[in-house]
Amino acid sequence: MKDLAGFRALVTGGASGIGLATARLLTLRGAEVAVLDLAPRGLPAPLRGYQADVADDASVRAAVTEAADDLGGLDILVNNAGIGAVGTVEDHADAEWHRVLDVNVLGVVRTTRAALPLLRHAAAARPGAASIVNVCSIAATAGLPRRALYSASKGAVLSLTLAMAADHVREGIRVNCVNPGTADTPWVGRLLDQAADPAAERAALEARQPLGRLVTADEVAGAVVYLASPSAASVTGTALAVDGGMQGL
Ligand code: NAD
Repeated sequence: MKDLAGFRALVTGGASGIGLATARLLTLRGAEVAVLDLAPRGLPAPLRGYQADVADDASVRAAVTEAADDLGGLDILVNNAGIGAVGTVEDHADAEWHRVLDVNVLGVVRTTRAALPLLRHAAAARPGAASIVNVCSIAATAGLPRRALYSASKGAVLSLTLAMAADHVREGIRVNCVNPGTADTPWVGRLLDQAADPAAERAALEARQPLGRLVTADEVAGAVVYLASPSAASVTGTALAVDGGMQGL
């Protein structure tokens, strides 16, 4: 199905995990896709990489402008870049709070700010085309242990999604988010590798999931691409959980 033919998309953090799966699926559905990442190396063709740090406004502006110039505009922004933090409120110094919020929350703000003029143009040229999808987390709503800072950052992304949806709906720009549960990506692999017995830790993690397995990056990508697609033309200001039943059970 090439329902996104003629659409131009930018995916932040698109060189790994959920972002890479999303960029690939957007391409399969016919979109032209740019990847903004700290390290946009080894991307499969025809993905185009643009180096930027979402914590640095100048680099974001430069990468978004260059990508949109190359693509001939921008219809879809996927704010996916993010970092983790493990601990309670007592475990992180202020500097760590600032660092994670700077990437996870202000990173969304910076790319959105840079992309909005382009998205307005897309919405005016082709009603229904423009949308933003933020990759949030069930940490925003689930009360996970030892995720105080990460959860606060994703709670902010959830609230930001709702506020942005309200602010831009009249301009024809939809804004939604996806809340993944534990997804099998390099990020989770890195966390498991810190355990004394990574294989046993993985088995225990899988056993805690209602489905008995982790969510896949492709499953999260499917939800992101649905929200960005014309099939979701009436969907804005919503959070779609892809969590294997974690929240509902
Ligand atoms: P990942 O580590 O596999 O990929 C993250 C990508 O983001 C990497 O390519 C990295 O280079 C890039 N990135 C990190 N910081 C950046 C920055 N400052 N500027 C630009 N790019 C940057 O991670 P993932 O598991 O695919 O996670 C992607 C998103 O999904 C994150 O926002 C994360 O919070 C969210 N999420 C992941 C899970 C999970 O279990 N994997 C669950 C819920 C939500």
